[in-house]
Amino acid sequence: MKRVHNFSAGPATLPLEVLKKAKSELTNFQNMGRSVMEISHRSAQYTEIDRQAKTHLRDLLNLGDDFEIMFLQGGASSQFMMVPFNFLDENETADYIDTGRWSNKAIKEAKVFGNVHRPYSSSESGYDRVPTDDELTFSDNPAYVHFTSNNTVAGTQFPKEPETDGIPLVCDASSDFLSKPIDVSRYGIIYAGAQKNIGPAGVTVVIIRKDFLRKADTEGVPTILQYQTHAEKIFNTPPTFNVYMVNLVLEWIQDKGGLEYFKSFNEKKAALLYDEIDRDDFYRGAVEKDSRSLMNATFRLPSEELEAKFLSEAEERDLYTLKGHRSVGGIRASMYNACPMESVQTLVDFMKTFRKENS
Ligand code: PMP
Repeated sequence: MKRVHNFSAGPATLPLEVLKKAKSELTNFQNMGRSVMEISHRSAQYTEIDRQAKTHLRDLLNLGDDFEIMFLQGGASSQFMMVPFNFLDENETADYIDTGRWSNKAIKEAKVFGNVHRPYSSSESGYDRVPTDDELTFSDNPAYVHFTSNNTVAGTQFPKEPETDGIPLVCDASSDFLSKPIDVSRYGIIYAGAQKNIGPAGVTVVIIRKDFLRKADTEGVPTILQYQTHAEKIFNTPPTFNVYMVNLVLEWIQDKGGLEYFKSFNEKKAALLYDEIDRDDFYRGAVEKDSRSLMNATFRLPSEELEAKFLSEAEERDLYTLKGHRSVGGIRASMYNACPMESVQTLVDFMKTFRKENS
């Protein structure tokens, strides 16, 4: 069986161990003579999967009883709407740190419901950085501060949570969720589409602090779009197979050594690649060094022609999906938790050869 080196930004590579386990159980889950896709979401077996996945998340993130966890549909993009629908009134303001394409989409939805203030924007410099704390200017009394912890398109990442002086953070953590430990006490909401770091596309993890949830204004909000609905119980049919896969990935993350392990593993992979990018000026990092993402490394070559050649020769060596996002071009290597060191090493070896042959 051949597997390529997969640098896809998402849906992204999954741990081979997880895929094999899922394959082995596919047609006959727990001797039921049925797959996990063919049982009720109210069955004891599915209820146990849901419970296990939530327990793994609590353990990995050190979440106390003061947090609710839910597995929703609609992707992170639905959270762009659900957050302000529940937490932003027309007379209120929410602060949205603008660090790229996804922040912008979140801002567009928030404006449907209330006022948006941008404490910072790197749009003028092409989203090449994230702010330091002293660059943030908040509004007087924001309902929350929204930020995108990792900017998948530009290739920037907040090295730590922005300082907000007690205002709850709402975080789109889609592309660095569970890649390192975080200080959960700072967050009102953390949401993440699964398809980068924790499973296949189709399920979105939402974590909400209970005291923040109590501030939700549900008047005029359809039942399925109220967070409270999903906090109380499994409201409607969840994407059961996806939650099953997420549970397997969470188990794998724990077996490997949890978030401290992945922090160090991800730092090593990123260092290996960025060192190569910085070796001379053949490759050029696309963003400021202090803002670089450990998940999505973005860089350029001396010309677009060389970039096209690079991508095509990379595929000949089984190095796949290295093309930058269509809105920015260039090269993007995504190396989430499940991307092995060996893939990054193979990429770096290829980069050395390509530089030698083309400079
Ligand atoms: N936020 C970020 C940071 C993302 O990278 C993406 C997907 N690339 C999204 C939101 C949108 O996610 P979805 O497609 O699950 O709605």
